[in-house]
Amino acid sequence: MVTLDLSADQKALVDLAHQFGEKEMAPHVQHHDETGEYPTEIIRKCHAVGLMNTHIPQEYGGLGLNVFDGCLIAEELSSFCSGMYTALEANGLAQAPVIVAGNDEQKKEFLAPMVEKFQLAAYCVTEAHAGSDVQGIKTNAKKDGNDYLINGSKMWITNASVADWYFVLAYTDPSQGARGMSGFIVPSKLPGVQPGKKEKNLGQRCSDTRGIMFDNVRIPARYRLGEEGEGFKIAMKAFDHTRPPVAAGAVGVARAAYQHAVRYATERKTFGVPIAKHQAISFMIAEMAMNIEAARMLVWKAAWEIDQGRRNTLYAAYAKAFAADMCNKVCTDAVQVHGGYGYSTEYPVEKLYRDSKIFQIYEGTSQIQRLIISKEIFDRK
Ligand SMILES: Cc1cc2nc3c(=O)[nH]c(=O)nc-3n(C[C@H](O)[C@H](O)[C@H](O)COP(=O)(O)OP(=O)(O)OC[C@H]3O[C@@H](n4cnc5c(N)ncnc54)[C@H](O)[C@@H]3O)c2cc1C
Repeated sequence: MVTLDLSADQKALVDLAHQFGEKEMAPHVQHHDETGEYPTEIIRKCHAVGLMNTHIPQEYGGLGLNVFDGCLIAEELSSFCSGMYTALEANGLAQAPVIVAGNDEQKKEFLAPMVEKFQLAAYCVTEAHAGSDVQGIKTNAKKDGNDYLINGSKMWITNASVADWYFVLAYTDPSQGARGMSGFIVPSKLPGVQPGKKEKNLGQRCSDTRGIMFDNVRIPARYRLGEEGEGFKIAMKAFDHTRPPVAAGAVGVARAAYQHAVRYATERKTFGVPIAKHQAISFMIAEMAMNIEAARMLVWKAAWEIDQGRRNTLYAAYAKAFAADMCNKVCTDAVQVHGGYGYSTEYPVEKLYRDSKIFQIYEGTSQIQRLIISKEIFDRK
């Protein structure tokens, strides 16, 4: 049977996330946007109420919730502050390679403790000269007895300075291209690991984005995920799990911008009537509502596919590209509905507009999503 109705448990999850956002996030959003301060205490509380690490399998102490449920949480939390939500999302992104490719010991050592105590992780793939072109990375891992020595530097890493461990993609055999890459779990406190300065970003300012240096970092071979040469596949497979929640985050931001636009359009008067009475404004808002709903359906479909155990790469790319582009358009239009006030930091749409941009960039740009979609259409025919 097909149904788009949420179950009672899912509705309760949505309520829990919404109440958490209203009570714990909303009062602090402006402060964290203005100062760029990392929202440690808010994320700690999120962990305490069980809205974090929900996808860690039950055999490792987690709730074992599926991707769909994660998307419901993502939309709610992100509608309050996507900068704060990105800390959680990046944590889930780092865990995804361990979930898809980790062995029992690795899951026990790195995932299980995250359920018990508040810890964070980061996903380290991008480098200064290589983002979309993952094969262009230079970080390498050389076997040294029963260890690997990791050398190189990563860039634009979310949670870089707060993570307890990293997923790191490195070449073990550069001559093999993508098949010469391997994925590693690297504890962040090891000698030779050095996060850089916090980047000053356009939006999501409380998110912790930095470069990281790896200088002869020694890790035991048992911290390698899967076999040598499987790293690229593992790193990309993680996105099948995380692109739907990222897209849900974009839906959350767009929804917030839309709600502000509706409120303002009914309050603000020009030419003797609320601006909502001008068709140019009401149609702009109608477009927002329609596209938010369409994006949410794509998110749900992408999540549904992977939760059924099916390959969802195409649907995840649809959802990520559509939701990110939609979010940017909705936030731009929400500023437009507010006129001059939308351009001011006094109104929340200004922040939402800045925050929206990153959805078209991280976890694969909107262009790369289209590349994935076109490859699926033509190469898999
Ligand atoms: C705030 C923030 C947080 C991030 N967090 C993380 C993280 O936690 N971990 C991590 O590993 N990375 C992270 N990233 C990196 C992010 O994933 C990359 O920035 C992104 O993949 C783009 O890579 P790039 O910046 O090198 O741009 P480039 O790859 O140089 O792309 C530049 C432009 O060219 C376009 N382009 C490139 N190749 C093609 C092509 N073949 N066809 C069409 N267009 C193309 C791109 O779409 C883009 O518009 C983060 C980035 C930011 C800004």
